[in-house]
Amino acid sequence: TERTLSIIKPDATKRNLTGKINAKFEEAGLRIVAQKRIHLSKAQAGTFYAVHAERPFYDELCEFMASGPVVVQVLEGESAIAKNREVMGATNPADAAQGTVRAEFAESVGENSVHGSDAPETAAEEISYFFSGLELV
Ligand code: ATP
Ligand code: MG
Repeated sequence: TERTLSIIKPDATKRNLTGKINAKFEEAGLRIVAQKRIHLSKAQAGTFYAVHAERPFYDELCEFMASGPVVVQVLEGESAIAKNREVMGATNPADAAQGTVRAEFAESVGENSVHGSDAPETAAEEISYFFSGLELV
C-alpha cells in the first residue's frame, strides 16, 4: 500500500465539488486518510510548485492556487500514486478520458480541479509539506 498527496483546487472548491471528487477517489479504492481545507498564500503556492518555476504558466498557476481555498488530502491504497492520476485524468481536460475528474469537472488546462503527486519521492515531500506526523495515522 502507498500514499499520495492530492489537492482539490480552488476552481473545484468554489463550485462545491469536493464531495463528488472524493466519491470518485473512494469508488476507485483510494482511502482518504487525512484531509483539511486551507487557503494558500501566493508564496506558499510558489514553494509547492517550485519545480515549475521556469515554466511560462508559473505565475498564473500560483495566482490561481492562492485564489481561494483548497482541500489538501492524503490518499492511501494499492499503487495510490498511479491510481490517483488515473482517476484525475490528463492535465488538459480536452485530453482527459471519459469519467475522470478532469473530464467531468476541469474548466481548462490551468484550472483543472485536482493535483496529484507524480512519484514516490514527490509524494513523500508533498505530504510532509502539508501534514505533520501527528495528523497522519
Ligand atoms: P498536477 O501537478 O497539478 O497534478 P499535472 O502533473 O497533470 O498536474 P503538470 O505538468 O505537473 O501537470 O502541471 C502542474 C499544473 O500546472 C497543472 O495541473 C495545471 O494546473 C498547470 N498547468 C500545466 N500546464 C499548463 C498550461 N499550459 N497553462 C496553464 N497552466 C498549466
Ligand atoms: Mg505535476
